[in-house]
Amino acid sequence: MKLAQLASCRACPRLVQHHAEVASQYPDYHARPVGSWGDKRYRVLVVGLAPGLHGAARTGKAFVGDASGEFLFEGLYDNGFATDPDPQQASLINLRLTNVVKCLPPGNAPIASEINQCAGFLLQELTHLLRPQARQARVVLALGGVAHRAVCRTLQIPAGTFQHNGTVALGSRHTLVSSFHPSRLNVNTGRLTRPMFDKVLRNVRSLLSGRDIASSTAP
Ligand code: SF4
Repeated sequence: MKLAQLASCRACPRLVQHHAEVASQYPDYHARPVGSWGDKRYRVLVVGLAPGLHGAARTGKAFVGDASGEFLFEGLYDNGFATDPDPQQASLINLRLTNVVKCLPPGNAPIASEINQCAGFLLQELTHLLRPQARQARVVLALGGVAHRAVCRTLQIPAGTFQHNGTVALGSRHTLVSSFHPSRLNVNTGRLTRPMFDKVLRNVRSLLSGRDIASSTAP
């Protein structure tokens, strides 16, 4: 299925049913598949897990509307990837946001068949980012282990072990960088702090400029 058909996709029965339940409970919510958004001339594709109930599933924009987005956008703004720290106000710079699974999963937990079913959309997004005629370095930033493994599986490269701020070369010029997901749980427990996430984003910026100054796997 083409990306242009994403909005009408109903390939995952459990998620279609869940959207119907959410739409019934929250009539104003988007409660449909959520595609990517951001700068059309993007060199960074941020890949999260899935829309959040009160975030993208409400607003229709990935990472807009919940605490994960607020944490993410503060970092994007501080590192020159967004025009404003407020997700509702910001435009993205050189960067686009998407999720592995485009529909809201119950309990924030997509199952394997849904990840596999949605991989066709992710592949199209990754293929566009990493197209052969792209002359400058590109970066995929995977948020969380599920996203890390989904990106690797979709690109048919070995995933290895997910590590915060770990990197995987995508050919000779492009790079996959992985980070803990800025979920409320990870942030509230201190698993992911602002300095840790800033370090990841500085690594991304360095890779875009051709310098890999922080490809270590240390937090
Ligand atoms: S998760 Fe992806 S494949 Fe499944 S219904 Fe939503 S858009 Fe379609």
